[in-house]
Amino acid sequence: MHFYILTLFPEMVMQGLGTSILGRAAERGHISIEAVNIRDHTLDRHGKVDDYTYGGGAGMLMQAQPVYDACMAVQEKIAAADGEKKARVVYVTPQGEIFRQEMAREFAKEENLIFLCGHYEGIDERVLEEVVTDYVSIGDYVLTGGELPAMVMVDAIARLVPGVLHNADSAVTETFHDGLLEYPQYSRPEVWRGRKVPEILLSGDHAKVDRWRRDQSLERTKRLRPDLYAAYVETHPDAAEDK
Ligand code: SAM
Repeated sequence: MHFYILTLFPEMVMQGLGTSILGRAAERGHISIEAVNIRDHTLDRHGKVDDYTYGGGAGMLMQAQPVYDACMAVQEKIAAADGEKKARVVYVTPQGEIFRQEMAREFAKEENLIFLCGHYEGIDERVLEEVVTDYVSIGDYVLTGGELPAMVMVDAIARLVPGVLHNADSAVTETFHDGLLEYPQYSRPEVWRGRKVPEILLSGDHAKVDRWRRDQSLERTKRLRPDLYAAYVETHPDAAEDK
């Protein structure tokens, strides 16, 4: 899967996404991540990409032309590489739909995905209307730029691409996969500061371990995320009886 991130701060994005699991996945060719500098596409001879807003108001706005040309350049590159129809363009914005695991799963099915990062006051509305297919937020708060939200989304999506995680099972047992929080986990030593690992995990009885983990998931979800628990028992009525 190929990620393209349109940004004024490409080094920030590449530093954030080029290490650890995603860095290795890119080296192995499971994903590619390219940060495209919007400034490289401005026609302004001084390299300007922003200007004051019509109607007044504080702050600068990213102009339509460089954003449009940067986006078109990526769409053309995608078309030239594999003739793929136009890629989806995700504008990361506090005004968008809140990003969730289901959305990450849906985006992970795409071959190419373009993220557009705003900065300052945001981006001229006219170019958004021309190029954006999805408006997505990482939460109800306002950040200075779209780079961190884009990195959050690329990370969550990329780890669902086959081959990126070493052990494919880890994505399947994790929080949100089936609507529940994950059970608690323990590693060596067996006793730490007087706290023992639950006996059942040392028993070697896989059926019992599975049962214990499911009970822990249900109990933890009910306690920490009653909203998720209520949705889960609606589709799994037997779960409420179990607990
Ligand atoms: N003036 C805009 C508004 O009130 O909706 C906010 C602009 S914000 C200061 C600058 C950029 O940061 C936005 O264009 C967007 O790309 C990004 N951004 C800020 N908060 C975000 C969030 N919660 N989720 C996704 N992107 C966000």
